[in-house]
Amino acid sequence: MRKTTRMPFIAGNWKMNTTVGEAKRLVGQMLPQLEKVSRVEKAVCPPFVSLTAVKEAIRSTSVKLGAQNLYFEEKGAYTGEISPLMLAGLCDYVIIGHSERRQYFKEDGALINKKVKAAIKAGLKPILCVGERLEENEAGETADVVRKQLTEALVDITNSGGMVIAYEPVWAIGTGRAATGGQSNETVGMIRSAIRALVNEKTANEMRILYGGSVTAENIAEFMSQPEIDGGLVGGASLKAEQFVAIVQKTAEVKGH
Ligand code: PEP
Repeated sequence: MRKTTRMPFIAGNWKMNTTVGEAKRLVGQMLPQLEKVSRVEKAVCPPFVSLTAVKEAIRSTSVKLGAQNLYFEEKGAYTGEISPLMLAGLCDYVIIGHSERRQYFKEDGALINKKVKAAIKAGLKPILCVGERLEENEAGETADVVRKQLTEALVDITNSGGMVIAYEPVWAIGTGRAATGGQSNETVGMIRSAIRALVNEKTANEMRILYGGSVTAENIAEFMSQPEIDGGLVGGASLKAEQFVAIVQKTAEVKGH
């Protein structure tokens, strides 16, 4: 198996699921097994209200914490929003530009760019999500769509601040219809070339690029055996402790870091 110097990374996006009690229970169920896997970086991204409780639960472990969103202003009259300063010191990562935010909350490239910059400034590592919709895929527009999303999100970014990119074809998210390893590897390779052009060579070589979209313990090996894919952003399967643990374990086996 081809080895890279990029540490494999599996992040669980819990979306709008789990009460605080459920979040504590879920992370508690995962922790003992996750702790046994040292060759994969692991993160969980619970809802905002559970961040403190989950942070406490993972204290002194290798599991990292991510938020699912943030606002770009540091403070002020933005009722209901959460600022980068509130998350800094609490989280390592923050998901930005998830397709559900683009679709339901009308987030566009300019807003996503502001969020990426604000996250990096606060010392948070963005997990920037990009991916094409079904009709774009069927029209053969995947590369153009993803390149445009990256170009918009990365305006004026010269220091990527440990950013991770998640390639998530929208038609594969929550549908049970994952992309194939080969298709994803090709698009992830294109993303790496785009990063080379938009940021620089070093960043492109070092940046972890994940696949996301109906990842399970059964199909993770197909993605992890691809040379360009460095890990996964996992939605539904991250809500089941044994599935998430198996995904992390299989990633360690296949990537053999
Ligand atoms: C996601 O929410 O980022 C995701 C990939 O979801 P799922 O794994 O459920 O398709």
